[in-house]
Amino acid sequence: MEELLERLLEECRCYIQEGHVADYIPELSKSDPDAFGIYIINSDGRHTWAGDCRQSFTIQSIVKPILLLQALLDNGMEAVQRRVGMEATGKPFDAINSSDQALDSGHINPMVNMGAIVMCSLIKGGTYEERFQRLLSLTGKLAGEEEIGVDEAVYLSEKAHGSRNRALAYLLKSYGLLEGDVEEVLDCYFRACSIRVSCKALAHIGAVLANRGRIPLTNERIFPSALARYVNAILMTCGMYDGSGEFAVRVGVPAKSGVAGGIMAVAPTRMGIGIYSPALDEKGNSLAGIRLLEKLSQELYLSIF
Ligand code: GLU
Repeated sequence: MEELLERLLEECRCYIQEGHVADYIPELSKSDPDAFGIYIINSDGRHTWAGDCRQSFTIQSIVKPILLLQALLDNGMEAVQRRVGMEATGKPFDAINSSDQALDSGHINPMVNMGAIVMCSLIKGGTYEERFQRLLSLTGKLAGEEEIGVDEAVYLSEKAHGSRNRALAYLLKSYGLLEGDVEEVLDCYFRACSIRVSCKALAHIGAVLANRGRIPLTNERIFPSALARYVNAILMTCGMYDGSGEFAVRVGVPAKSGVAGGIMAVAPTRMGIGIYSPALDEKGNSLAGIRLLEKLSQELYLSIF
């Protein structure tokens, strides 16, 4: 398996030059475009890796399924469904007009920014700090890491250059779709996007989702299996931005990407996969990362279809 990963990594390295590192905030543009790594955790607990898989980077949009999980755990499926829909929008993640009609909760989903911002407002806790710490603690458990933290420089950069997300949040508020203090909810979203992870952490999150809520090997249950079905289904249809349909055909597993270059993929019952390669395609997905997943899916017959 190590040899297979090494070989596929080398075969896909050439695609890095076709992509571009995110530069919508100054902090992300400092990433090394040549970093490329993969980590796999099988449901039986086996770990395999290749390349720069221990390098850390910010989770960015890959925190969206964790926000969804936290909101589901705190409020239940029906309450969450009432607040944010389940349909793919076919539009970019930060689109303003997600529908041609007036903004409606059924027109957004938890994997686009508006949906994720609503998820932030659904986290339970007495104070904002308590709510964020609960999210951080769930992220740490899913990632298999006790020491998980926020990259302060990226967080401050997100906050300083967050006009688009601010506009989305205030638009939600004006339509009565967002409760609570808008700036506080936004702060939670910016901080959540700035949590630092590695390929190993992403593989662990994927492995728990693949294992329907249990940690491989120890079998400790972190969330009910019905929630894994919910999150994996949303990932399958909406996880790779407006490239989710093509990704479903080419790769065929639930996955989520982030603009820092990470991809977390779930091969249900089989494995979790974490990939890092910061050069992105025009939709915001790691370009070489998707190629690598496509080849891996062909070699290991990972597609669920
Ligand atoms: N913090 C980013 C934003 O909302 C996340 C982008 C992403 O990874 O899709 O602009």
